[in-house]
Amino acid sequence: MKNFKYFAQSYVDWVIRLGRLRFSLLGVMILAVLALCTQILFSLFIVHQISWVDIFRSVTFGLLTAPFVIYFFTLLVEKLEHSRIDLSSSVNRLENEVAERIAAQKKLSQALEKLEKNSRDKSTLLATISHELRTPLNGIVGLSQNLLDDELDDRQRNYLKTINISAVSLGYIFSDIIDLEKIDARRIELHRKETDFYALLNDISNFALLMAEEKRLEFHLNCPSTLPNWLMLDGVRLNQILWNLITNAVKFTQQGSVTLSVEQTADNEFAIRVTDTGIGIDEADLEKIFELYYQVNSNRNKSLGSGIGLSISKTIAQLMGGDLTVTSEIGRGSTFLLTFKAEEALPPSDENSKLPLKLNILLVEDIEVNVVVAKSLLEKLGYQIDVAMTGAQAIEKFEQNYYDLVFLDIQLPDM
Ligand code: ADP
Repeated sequence: MKNFKYFAQSYVDWVIRLGRLRFSLLGVMILAVLALCTQILFSLFIVHQISWVDIFRSVTFGLLTAPFVIYFFTLLVEKLEHSRIDLSSSVNRLENEVAERIAAQKKLSQALEKLEKNSRDKSTLLATISHELRTPLNGIVGLSQNLLDDELDDRQRNYLKTINISAVSLGYIFSDIIDLEKIDARRIELHRKETDFYALLNDISNFALLMAEEKRLEFHLNCPSTLPNWLMLDGVRLNQILWNLITNAVKFTQQGSVTLSVEQTADNEFAIRVTDTGIGIDEADLEKIFELYYQVNSNRNKSLGSGIGLSISKTIAQLMGGDLTVTSEIGRGSTFLLTFKAEEALPPSDENSKLPLKLNILLVEDIEVNVVVAKSLLEKLGYQIDVAMTGAQAIEKFEQNYYDLVFLDIQLPDM
């Protein structure tokens, strides 16, 4: 089989090399000689004599017809070989193209991987920085809150409120940034616990009122008294969403009001609307504003922002079994609707059993600011506080004294 293929290919190569005309002539010559020899041999073998006239006649006939047959056969061979060569060169080209595409795809996916890693690294860095900034920020929030309970004149109280509210706002901004990394890694989790729903609404309304006052806007809270008092929900997350909606409402409203309306829509289902009389949002942008980093680009909207608040808020709302949607009219204002599910809860048991007033507490914490804040809050509640700033110090104090309670930082410099 191999030999046959070899000879067949050599035959075809010769056809191509000599060209169909020359090859045909060569074929005729070879055939003529062969026919002559065969005719002589047959004549000798059968009639025992050579009839030169007959031989001449048949050789002439053969020579006249053979070139045509050979020519057309050669033509066929040549055509077939050309198309085989064309086919194999197209296959080669195709193979090269496929190889090039595979290489390009590989490069692309490597570049994408690098890009994703860079973006992840950036989110992680931002999250780490935000975490680091949390400690001093907690100092500002805690201490300003503490001071607000003291005797102050109006001017001091106003300044302090602004300091407190700004610090609380910064805290929410950091939460959004920290969540960016978690959204990347799909790691946002809810921590549901018994939450005083009215207290939560009250706190966020106080905050909204202060924000609105700064821009001379009105703030209204519409909240029926029939809502359940205690709900199983992640209050920190709900606050984060409401904070995002209220700061946006205030940011994009120049005059008029911001309203927070709360209602129970079904068993364990709630709806909170944040309505403003601000610049409104174009219909084309209504869906896009929930995308990460999207900001409406218009002359009316020159505010600074990051474009992350709504995207994170929607993700959290969906984790809560609800959603965040918007309706809006340009020049008239917007209404953001937050829905979520939460079961009614009993007040946490420790609510009823107040701690005795004379507790002796050991506070173990290595960061000065945290010590000052925690100590001042606990002392305000009337407790006796002892502080240790390292693990070794804590053990020494714990062995020498009697404490009712130890607040222990889980990450100390020495252990
Ligand atoms: P940021 O406010 O930091 O830009 P958000 O994700 O909170 O990011 O909002 C995305 C965009 O949606 C905003 O930049 C703004 O264009 C638009 N937007 C959000 N809330 C309102 C609102 N109440 N009124 C008008 N536009 C709004």
